[in-house]
Amino acid sequence: ISEDLKNELAQELYASTPGLTIPKVKEQMFYKVGLADAVDLFRARRVFIKDGFAYVPLKEIDAIVLNNYRTKLSKALALTARSLPSIQSDERLQPLLSHLSHSYVGPDYSVQKNTGKISLEQIDALSVKSFPLCMRQLHKALRDNHHLRHGGRMQYGLFLKGIGLTLEQALEFWKKEFIRGKVDADKFDKGYAYSIRHSYGKEGKRTDYTPYSCMKIIMSNPPSQGDYHGCPFRHSDPELLKQKLQSYKIPPSGITQILELVKGMHYQLACQKYFELTHDVDDIGFSLNHPNQYFTESQRLLSGGREVKRELNNSGNSQQKSSSQESMNLNSVPASSNTTTDAELEGLEAYFTED
Ligand code: SF4
Repeated sequence: ISEDLKNELAQELYASTPGLTIPKVKEQMFYKVGLADAVDLFRARRVFIKDGFAYVPLKEIDAIVLNNYRTKLSKALALTARSLPSIQSDERLQPLLSHLSHSYVGPDYSVQKNTGKISLEQIDALSVKSFPLCMRQLHKALRDNHHLRHGGRMQYGLFLKGIGLTLEQALEFWKKEFIRGKVDADKFDKGYAYSIRHSYGKEGKRTDYTPYSCMKIIMSNPPSQGDYHGCPFRHSDPELLKQKLQSYKIPPSGITQILELVKGMHYQLACQKYFELTHDVDDIGFSLNHPNQYFTESQRLLSGGREVKRELNNSGNSQQKSSSQESMNLNSVPASSNTTTDAELEGLEAYFTED
């Protein structure tokens, strides 16, 4: 509403909107919305009503958005429920439907503009500054043990490809590390090198393999003893996760917040919190779905290419974020999912089976 109208209604807005003083009314933006869209606020007596309109302060606008979303969602669900029997009887659509809830539809990160722009010498520093926890953990394990088992090699190898390592760099990187351990150069060239070329689409079916999304890492192939792949927020014991975060100098209050999110099974939100704490920002301003997205955003932020919102008062954040994540209750999805990517990787996995 205009400043004039707001001044005219200042007394009523102040009297009907809890938590506002007259000066705060003057500072706040107010929206005039149809009463039907503000039923929840009206019911809780949180807004001023006049002539069939609610005058909603900016801080309450998420309630309107939620309400709208809920209405649209329930209409769409009702429509889907009605159409489902006829769709399910079509064999061509069945596989699509069964994978829909856990498919990743964001960028695939297999082709990067920055291919070849990262040097191998940079990786140690990048792993601390810009890798998500899953990849930082894999990198450290590789440096410590000079080896990664096949699940780790696949997850980390494809991530490195996604951040811009060329095939030649990847071969050099893995070889240098492996021959410091129990694998000799000959064994590396005969076995592991083939699998790396394969992941770059240079062998076998010549498929250019795609780096794993968070959903895939979280949902499939959980790590067992001696493995370092997976998502630490999903697969680590909370006590070990806590120790790891402490060793990475995450402040105690941040660790508590992360562990709360993990407890609520909001693994990607826990990772976003880790991003915020390690990059000293209050709100990362994107929704995390992919480790390579984490890397790209981190690099963009550190190089000053992206403005990140720094909020003095971010009290509304946690509630907002929890709501947005509610739809992704991972408990309700089976632990192992056969996505299209799984099928694509079948060939590749065969080359990685050697531990
Ligand atoms: Fe990696 Fe995604 Fe887990 Fe973060 S949420 S640690 S990026 S798998």
